Amino acid sequence: MLKHVAEGVLVHESEFIQSNCTVVQGRDGVLLIDPGITVNEMAALANDLRELGQPVVAGFSTHPDWDHVLWHPDFGDSPRYGTARCAASIRDVLSNVDWKEQVAEGLPPEHAEEIPMDLLGLITGLPTETAQIPWDGPTVRILEHQAHAPGHAALLVEGAGVLVAGDMLSDILMPFLDLQAADPLDDYLEALRLFETVADNVVAVIPGHGSVGGSGQLRERVTMDRAYVQALRDGREPDDPRIGPSAPLEWLAEVHGWQMQRLAARGQD
Ligand SMILES: [Zn+2]
Repeated sequence: MLKHVAEGVLVHESEFIQSNCTVVQGRDGVLLIDPGITVNEMAALANDLRELGQPVVAGFSTHPDWDHVLWHPDFGDSPRYGTARCAASIRDVLSNVDWKEQVAEGLPPEHAEEIPMDLLGLITGLPTETAQIPWDGPTVRILEHQAHAPGHAALLVEGAGVLVAGDMLSDILMPFLDLQAADPLDDYLEALRLFETVADNVVAVIPGHGSVGGSGQLRERVTMDRAYVQALRDGREPDDPRIGPSAPLEWLAEVHGWQMQRLAARGQD
């Protein structure tokens, strides 16, 4: 089911950790951002769009994690974009002969059978410094930053004032750092500052997983994510409701613990 977020912007929420697919209406069809997870929900979305007379004219993946680079044949074969770094990173994965087995290891067992691998990761990298999505629709600015994953980008749908945040600014997930990066904590703080620079123009924020936030939520979520990252930087246990006793996802505290350990281990290198 597609929900209206703002003028010309709709969202479809998956069962799998509230993954959001964002649909932006253009002149002759739609831009699909992070298309979805299971084969059935993507087929249903393709069907809904067909009934609305809105073909998919472009796709975009916010980053190269499996849950953001899936696709369904019914979406057609329009270009699927990502940043140059995003495309290079997923191309690297696909260059392994056993990539399907490697990716399968990270899939949630309860959905693994329903996740279509065939068109996974076929992303066209946009040249570095590309400022907006090349398509016939409202201006969609690309805000690339180094934080959650290589080549991660948020998209700002100008006019509508919607920030599609990728795996940042979630109300249910604390920051997941890119632990392969040289300075994961500084990178994350810098990305949050980048988001603040557009806050005055944003009336809705769509995280990769979690609830769509209304006006004011961007700043609130930046504050919450920053507090988490600063606590890690200072070696303190964060006071964060997303990993506390009443957290919506009970397994998250464990991921947080693992993340703390990995950071501590890096510090001793
Ligand atoms: Zn994700």
